This record gives sequence, C-alpha cells and structure tokens, in this order.
Amino acid sequence: MYNKPIHVLLVEDSPSDAKLQRHRFSRLDQEKWQLVHVESLAQAINRCHEFTFDVVLLDLNLPDSDGLETVVEFRAAVPNIPVIVLTGSDDDELAIGAISQGTQDFLCKDKIDIPLLVRTIYHAIEREQILKQLQESEQRFRAVFNQTFQFMTLLTPEGTILEMNQTALEFSKVKQEDYVGLPLWESNAWNYSLTSQNWLKIAIAKARNGQLVREEVQIRSAEEAIVWIDFSLKPLTDEAGKVIFLIEEGREISARKYRELNARQQAQAEILRVWEQEQELNQIKLNFVSMVSHEFRTPLTTIHTSNHLLEQYYQHLPEDKIGTYHTSIKKAVNRITSLLDDALIIGKNVSKKLKFEPEILNLVQFCDRLVSEQQPKVTNNRQIIFTHKGKCNNVYMDKYLLQQMINNLLSNGIKFSLEGSTIKFDLSCQDEVATFCIQDQGIGIPPEDLDRVFESFYRASNVGNIQGTGLGLSIVKKAVDLHGGQILLESHIGLGTNVLINLPLNSYLSKVKV
Ligand code: ATP
Ligand code: MG
Repeated sequence: MYNKPIHVLLVEDSPSDAKLQRHRFSRLDQEKWQLVHVESLAQAINRCHEFTFDVVLLDLNLPDSDGLETVVEFRAAVPNIPVIVLTGSDDDELAIGAISQGTQDFLCKDKIDIPLLVRTIYHAIEREQILKQLQESEQRFRAVFNQTFQFMTLLTPEGTILEMNQTALEFSKVKQEDYVGLPLWESNAWNYSLTSQNWLKIAIAKARNGQLVREEVQIRSAEEAIVWIDFSLKPLTDEAGKVIFLIEEGREISARKYRELNARQQAQAEILRVWEQEQELNQIKLNFVSMVSHEFRTPLTTIHTSNHLLEQYYQHLPEDKIGTYHTSIKKAVNRITSLLDDALIIGKNVSKKLKFEPEILNLVQFCDRLVSEQQPKVTNNRQIIFTHKGKCNNVYMDKYLLQQMINNLLSNGIKFSLEGSTIKFDLSCQDEVATFCIQDQGIGIPPEDLDRVFESFYRASNVGNIQGTGLGLSIVKKAVDLHGGQILLESHIGLGTNVLINLPLNSYLSKVKV
C-alpha cells in the first residue's frame, strides 16, 4: 500500500490554513502524495462520490457546517474513508467528540509538523483498513451464526442470554430484545418443569468450570410441544483460559428419537415374545417328561411282558396265543410311535419349524382313505359314517396337516364315545370353503374345560381311564390356523361333541391375501 500514491482530500475554508497545509505537502514526494483541496462540506462530499480518496483532512468550521455536525454529516454521506479532524489549539473536547463519531484521529493545526502529518495519515489509513476487515469478519460470523441449521445462544458464564441466532429466535418465536438479559432456564423452552430447569443450571455450572456438556434432552417448543433436542453447552475461554462466554447449541431430533424409542419397544416386545416362547417350550418339555413316564410305561410293559412270554414259552404256546402276543407288541409300538409323532409336531410348532406346504388334492378320496384306515381300529360296535357334498375333488391344502387334523378328530370321536354309537363325519364344499363336521354321541366336555382343551397336554376332568396325552386338539388347532381357517367346538356332557371346521378351498390364496 505504501508504494502506491496516497490521495488526500483537504477540506479547509481558511485560505491561510489551506496554504500552510499545501506548503507542507509540497515538501513531500510529489509522485506519491496527491493533494486535492476543497472549501466546503458539500464540495467534499461531492468529490468523495466522484473519487475514492485514501484519507480526508477535515476542518470542522466550514461555511456550510460547523463543529461536530460536520463529522456526523460527512461520515453519514461517506462512511468508508478515514477522516482526520483539523482542530484549533484549544479544541481538545471537540477533538475527542469527533473521535467518538468515528474519525480516526485529530491534528492540532498549530502543532503539525511533517513527520507527525505523515505518521498520522498512515495510522489513520491502517486503522480504517483493520476496522473494515473486522467489520467484514463480523459480517461473515453473523451470517454463519444466523444461517446455521442449529439454534445457538450466546450466554454469560452465569447463564444469562446475550444473543440468540435467527434459528433460535424462530424456534422459540420470540424477539431478541425480550430474551436478552434473561437467565436461559427462565426461557419458555426450559421453564416447563423444575427438573429441566435444575438440570440446565447444573449443566451451566459444569460449562462454567470448563466442561463441555452434550446430551439429548427435552425442551418446550413455541407450539407448547415437548420435543427432543441434541443439546450442547460449550465454554469459550480467553487467552488466560478464563471462561468468558458459554455457547448453547441445539438441534431438534424428535423424529429420530421416537424412531429409536419405537425400535427399542419393538426389541423389548420381541425379547418378551422369545421369552414367552421359551417358557412355553420349557413347560412343554416338562409336560413331555411327565407324559413319557405315564404314557410310555403301559405300552413298554406290554412289549416287555409279551416278549418275555414269547422267549420263555414259545415252544409250548398255542399258535393263536403267539399271534396275540405279536399283535400286542405291534399295537404297543404303534402307540409309542403315535405319541412320538404328536410330540414332534408340537415341538416343531413351538420352535416355528412347522411348515405349511399345500398341494392339489382330491379331498373326498383323501378323507375316504383316512376313514377306512381308522375303521378297523374301532371296537365295541362303534362306527364312522362319512358323507360328502359339493365339489371337493380339486382343493389346495397341506396333506400332512390335514391328515393330523382329521385323524385326531376321528380318534377323539371314537375314544370318547360309548359302545355301539356312531361318529358322523360330514364334508361339504361350497363358496370356496370346505366344511368338516365331526360329531359324536360321547361323554362330552365339561363347560369349564371347553376353553382350554386346545392347549397342549390339557385334558378335561371327565376323561377317567381313557388314554391320551392332551396333544391332539392343539395339533388340530395349529393345522386349522396354518390353513387360515376357523374351528368351532360345541359339547354337552353326556350328549356328545360336535367339531366344525371351515378351511378355504384354496388355502394358499387366502393366506396370501392375509
Ligand atoms: P391325544 O389326542 O393327545 O391322544 P387327548 O385325546 O386326551 O390325547 P386332545 O385330543 O387334545 O387330547 O383333547 C383334549 C381333551 O379334550 C381330551 O382329553 C378330552 O378331555 C377333550 N375332548 C376332546 N375331544 C373330545 C370328544 N370328542 N369328546 C369328549 N371329550 C373330548
Ligand atoms: Mg385326542
């Protein structure tokens, strides 16, 4: 800068003073120091609008303006050029007043010498430039401060609000002047509860001691809603390390927070579900152990005894006796196999491995076959009568599950019926639904047990010596559920039981719809 020419505007109405100043400048390097002289404030302002001077030497008593007013008016019209005021010898007060109005310096006309003049001009130019840089940096800071996405508040170390940025003002819907001077915990955002105010006071005390505080907390919005924010409080220190300001920053995170809370709740529900499943599994294991000890003992004893008799007396036994023992062993093995099959299905169901694999099948043929397999096992003149109506020859269902379902229902009908009675099995298909109705005239189920007979291992109080493990109906229920169907159980003690099941003819489609 100092290598460039320096353009000076001298504003002086006194011809003798002007002459003196010109004389002083004439003794400086003429290429470098370019002096322009005007005699009034109006002329000075005009020249400054035409050309950018580096500095203005301004006399305060001009024909069109007098005293401090001259500085005020000039600065208002030309704000960015450094001004040095020229005063008389006894005008100290005026000079100081001029400085407070933004002039860079003053020179007492009587005491000016050339080195002082040059030094004062250089200082004035330099100070003005520093001021300009400061202003620009302040503007940049202010733009960042106000435009940032975060809301920010500048606080004293005691927590009193000094300034809020635009985002903070918009969030709280308040005016700067209403909040400046207020302790932060008295603001609408924090004064909704004593707990939150106390929390903030502690946070401010920590920050005052140099600690950075950062936490996810709840505050009140201008709309009176309690929202989550990512809050931080930073101490700002001077060079000596003393905390001089605190900066509060915040960003609303309610949406993310509620997503997290939701996910946590879901995870907890999942843990609870798994735990309940585990409990159920444990209960089933326990029940299974006690069932095994009860139910397996009889067929195993039969096998053991029959086998022993065959081994010991085979040579001496008549043909028909040998046949009877072999049949007993076969029946006992069948019983154990069937118990294990049931236990396996329940186990798969609990561990969610029970699959639903539908295929096309002729339902009438399928039921016919199951009935004829069951019929020979029926003793004591009991009889299964199967009827069907509607178009049931092309359904889409799971064969394995269906077989479990029908066999269990027929077996219940048979074993809980009285001698000589009939078990009716009616199948009808219409309106995309297959209805299975299995009806007996047996012992019936007490009303208080009706709700629980679908639970694994549950047996009604009136079963007496009739064999069973209490797994059949829970398997039936599972098969119905997997087909997307419904089951209805009606029963009257001493009169009989009626089971009604509706399954969609095309179970796959009905499950897809679900
Ligand atoms: P499992 O079928 O495992 O051999 P179970 O027949 O006793 O044993 P479920 O088929 O699950 O067990 O039936 C549960 C209980 O419901 C039976 O123990 C019985 O008390 C009652 N119950 C089921 N069907 C009938 C029926 N047709 N008549 C009377 N009671 C029945
Ligand atoms: Mg049963």
